[in-house]
Amino acid sequence: MNYSNKENYFDAIIVGSGTCGATIAKELSSKHKNVLILERGGNDPLKESLMAYAKISNEVPVAGKLKDMRAFTTGGSTAMYLAVADLPPVDTFKNLGIDLTEDLEEACKELPISEISDNFIGAQAKKLGESARALGYDWKKKLMLVDQSKFDNKNFYEVKWKARTFVDSALRDGATLITQATVSKVIHDNKKAIGVEYTIGKKKEVFKAYGEKIVLAAGSLATPVILRESGIKNVVSHGFYINPSIGLIGSIRGLSSAENFCGCMGAKVDDEIELMDANFHRFLFNVGMLVSAKPLRIAAYPRHVGITVKVKEPVGGELTADGKFNKKLTDNDHRKLEKGLGVARQILENAGAGKIFKTELISGGALGTLKIKEHVDEKLQTEYEGLYVCDGSILPENDRVTPTFTLVCLAKYLSRHLAATL
Ligand SMILES: Cc1cc2nc3c(=O)[nH]c(=O)nc-3n(C[C@H](O)[C@H](O)[C@H](O)COP(=O)(O)OP(=O)(O)OC[C@H]3O[C@@H](n4cnc5c(N)ncnc54)[C@H](O)[C@@H]3O)c2cc1C
Repeated sequence: MNYSNKENYFDAIIVGSGTCGATIAKELSSKHKNVLILERGGNDPLKESLMAYAKISNEVPVAGKLKDMRAFTTGGSTAMYLAVADLPPVDTFKNLGIDLTEDLEEACKELPISEISDNFIGAQAKKLGESARALGYDWKKKLMLVDQSKFDNKNFYEVKWKARTFVDSALRDGATLITQATVSKVIHDNKKAIGVEYTIGKKKEVFKAYGEKIVLAAGSLATPVILRESGIKNVVSHGFYINPSIGLIGSIRGLSSAENFCGCMGAKVDDEIELMDANFHRFLFNVGMLVSAKPLRIAAYPRHVGITVKVKEPVGGELTADGKFNKKLTDNDHRKLEKGLGVARQILENAGAGKIFKTELISGGALGTLKIKEHVDEKLQTEYEGLYVCDGSILPENDRVTPTFTLVCLAKYLSRHLAATL
């Protein structure tokens, strides 16, 4: 179908260049498909500094004042993530008609996924682990997306895998990237997606690009808004989940720590309450203390230990008519948080910590705004032919995992299908 001139027509248009968008762009470009990536954020070099984080971070209220965080930049939220990884819930996806076996195998070869070596675990994390295990908790290492072969004890940020590397690979293979490009809706012709409309920066002019396949990978809080704007009505019909999370931080007199990969260990209290090591390396600790209005703690970084409590809450909430996400946490959700905090306090005190304080309650990741088999089929196609969704929107509510590695697998799965049909 010829909707536009040749320069403006692509095999695939990918909206968003985060975990999923970057993976799909890389996979399709490597197979000589003509790919356009439209990314809302900029393409500044990725750095771990207050200025750099302030420029790319974006907070979205999801439950009253409680906010979810995402990053607007090439490479999406992996520009700011902790790099904790879980393996995908392969059986859950199989039951939905999606076989990730091949994609998982490939992702394990391509991404640096492993437990952090004992040599790189600091005194704070070790101390907490000993305390938790002495109290009978199964406190063990988590997988992380960290290239430990390049770690020099300082470059915590640089050694984390980031989706930006996949965008770079797509560009080397000929993909086109337009940054500061915010997609507002999908253009369709009798329920066949044919292109997208977008604006650049703060300018009002609306641009159009056309393609055979359109993939929405703008993230779980942006994709449903674009779908609705494009005429798809029943988005967020079951709500979403946010895994509410809160930190407990204390200080141990005499502790002199090396820095840590935050989140490298943890334990489940039960099926719905998880504790994670929250011993940040120095930069993230400083940011956390500023956010918690505890600047005087910054100088005492080496004495500090922390635990994050994350709980599962039922799916619920809505996307309101004016485009806002909102859900209410229940008394039961708060009870689970209190129970987790009780255990975290016990572990901290057993480790010798005092001066303990709670951080703000945050969203541990707003996900699952759309459902596989309802909003998309098992090929991730929506009710519009040629329009696909691949991002945190479609992560199932059962078997919740830290999302990034699962999303890479899911994006590889969709790429295989798209490459075969293009
Ligand atoms: C502070 C923090 C810590 C985290 N820690 C972990 C962790 O340890 N482990 C883990 O697995 N996950 C973690 N996550 C979550 C993880 O980063 C995300 O779940 C994952 O990156 C989601 O991938 P995605 O492709 O759905 O969206 P994203 O990676 O968010 O990408 C979406 C992209 O779309 C762009 N975009 C948005 N709207 C538009 C639009 N209208 N038009 C064009 N482009 C658009 C955005 O700029 C962005 O680049 C963390 C997240 C944060 C913020």
